[in-house]
Amino acid sequence: MAKSKSSWIQRHLNDPYVKKAQKQGFLSRAVYKLQEIQEKHPLIQPGMRVVELGAAPGGWSQYVAQMLKGRGTLIAVDLLEMVPLTDVFCIQGDFNAAHTLEQIRKLMAGQPLDLVLSDMAPNITGMKAVDQARMVALAEAALSFAEETLKPGGDFFIKVFDGSGIKGLQVALKKKFKQVSIEKPKASRARSSEIYLLAKNFYL
Ligand code: SAM
Repeated sequence: MAKSKSSWIQRHLNDPYVKKAQKQGFLSRAVYKLQEIQEKHPLIQPGMRVVELGAAPGGWSQYVAQMLKGRGTLIAVDLLEMVPLTDVFCIQGDFNAAHTLEQIRKLMAGQPLDLVLSDMAPNITGMKAVDQARMVALAEAALSFAEETLKPGGDFFIKVFDGSGIKGLQVALKKKFKQVSIEKPKASRARSSEIYLLAKNFYL
């Protein structure tokens, strides 16, 4: 047990994306996944209204705030407390709880969103079927949130674990978005079942 923990730490410290994030002042290596997507399919532009679900520790939030260039709104939500970040409204709570939704709505000030991002993941139990079911439930709830808050033409980018329930989720996305693609950014570890679904151009 101790051995595998120390080898995980070693792998983490040797990870080029971890080193790069530390050097560039980002709070997580995850930032490079979003950066690759942004370079491939520009999603974030100055002036946009963006909600980010599952934002802690805040690498994506830092990057989105940079892309917004001080114009627009970024609301970052997480169960965990986040350090305050420039140009980011941080909300601590379950994104699906009434109190959190109320805070999000207040910050949205009656305006629909241009973009919903979700890098949420459930706490991993190690039991694959349980983790997969929790991830799918989280993704379905995030999709409902996106459907309720996006403007027509808006985009949705979400992490899932490849496996049971993902085909169904893609079908649901295709009913509401004009283009749906599967993305596996280079910074996403090859051995991880994590993939991202990019759904563009929401229609009512
Ligand atoms: N993108 C982030 C970054 O760049 O720093 C990393 C996100 S981390 C992989 C996933 C996050 O999802 C965790 O911090 C976890 O607390 C959050 N999360 C999971 N379920 C959530 C929920 N129901 N509501 C809000 N946040 C949730």
